[in-house]
Amino acid sequence: MICNKSFFSTFFLLSFLSGSITLFADDTAFTADLVMINGKIWTADSSNPYAEAVAIVADKIIAVGTTDEIETYITEHTKIIDLKKKRVVPGFQDSHTHFIDEAIKTTPLKDPYTPKFKAYNRLAFEFGSFFTGLLHIGVKMLGSTPMDLLPPQQLPNESTSELRLKRGIHELHKMGITTVFELGTDWEHYQFLLSLQDKNELDIRCELYFASRLIDKLIQTGINRHTGDEWVRVLGVKFYSDGWLGPRTCALRESYQDKTFIWQKCPGYTGILYMDQNKANRDILKARLAGLKIATHTIGDRAVEVILNAYENALSLYPDSDHRYTLEHASVLGPDLIERIKMLHVIPSIQFSFATTDMYFVENALGSERTKYTYPWQTLLDNDIICTGGSDFPVEVISPLWGIQRMVTRQDVNAFPEDGWHPEERISVEDALRMITINSAYSSFEEDTKGSIETGKFADIVVLSRDILDIPPTEIAATEVVLTMVGGKIVYERADQV
Ligand SMILES: [Zn+2]
Repeated sequence: MICNKSFFSTFFLLSFLSGSITLFADDTAFTADLVMINGKIWTADSSNPYAEAVAIVADKIIAVGTTDEIETYITEHTKIIDLKKKRVVPGFQDSHTHFIDEAIKTTPLKDPYTPKFKAYNRLAFEFGSFFTGLLHIGVKMLGSTPMDLLPPQQLPNESTSELRLKRGIHELHKMGITTVFELGTDWEHYQFLLSLQDKNELDIRCELYFASRLIDKLIQTGINRHTGDEWVRVLGVKFYSDGWLGPRTCALRESYQDKTFIWQKCPGYTGILYMDQNKANRDILKARLAGLKIATHTIGDRAVEVILNAYENALSLYPDSDHRYTLEHASVLGPDLIERIKMLHVIPSIQFSFATTDMYFVENALGSERTKYTYPWQTLLDNDIICTGGSDFPVEVISPLWGIQRMVTRQDVNAFPEDGWHPEERISVEDALRMITINSAYSSFEEDTKGSIETGKFADIVVLSRDILDIPPTEIAATEVVLTMVGGKIVYERADQV
């Protein structure tokens, strides 16, 4: 039987619509467009975690199995990739970036994508934190939040924007990223992404949280969590509830322990809360009623508490048992907050590099008791809490492999400290991978269509130069991506490697 691509595309579409997507799982009568064989595949599918080979038709995976099984899908029309025992993982999904904003405004002279792995410089960090702190205080004095104050973005002319964004996307493909979550999306950027998609020129999947100042516009235009498709998907809005830990502006339940910055000398200073409980309740209820998924920047334990209260309030008034709201960063927690995160089914969206950026001063700023619950990643996992992983690019390095190494070692570029910072909170490579594949897909309600190498899902796949599940964790960041595939299309390939 000869089956062409359009036949398959149509058949798959019908299969999806009828919910019978596993139709091809054991059907060896069909031809694959592409097969990858002889690999070491980590699938992120807990029912079938490891495989050797995968068969693809059009943009979807039609079978996963042993090389022998997958070879039955090969005909003269099939492209064959011999993986030569290379490690294969699902495409990386960075659950927290400002990539689109950064890419569009980055001139060719600047290169934010290449990691610059500098050693920690205390003075430079405090200098930067001082000015960030002044900014946070200024925004608070204006009675606003950083999300509300950002001016609308002016796009450079369309061709310049397009060139810059495509260059940025190419850099992401080189790092194995196939989905990018944009936190605080601007309206103009959204329109620009749609225009690229219209031209069929978008080859990275974009998950958008709009800046919260756009909420009225979203309501007026009827945009909500169900708007969009697998390329440009609207999730909801991003709120901003407190400052950062570095400049000591994140909102705490008890005062800071140190006095590094002048504002910490104000009597009763516990950080900056941009959304008091009333504002948080009001704004979050509004987003809930508008059918928008909610992501809120929360770093200090006071901010986490206020936002959990607001989530609980909105969800008790208008229940949604499958809301998948997130706490972005969720840096300083406590046993009670971890318990509430679990009970409310809130997703901590944690950042690969924050612990190793902040570890030099956390104990000084918070004292040892609170430090135990700052970036407590393994504790979150022990509590069966689903977490997603993200970079917060351009605040931090975007490379997911760099990020995985940070999460697994909790060491800086100089392998400091020797056993990792609070080594009990190091997580396994597989858990780190899950956070940036299937868990991110869950966070965007797409765990049935992507996030793992599984029959019926989009063929978003990455091939690595080394086996990150089997090499010393300190070598993960130096591992290279040798092939990236988005929806069955190879978007990056190192010819010498595959
Ligand atoms: Zn961010």
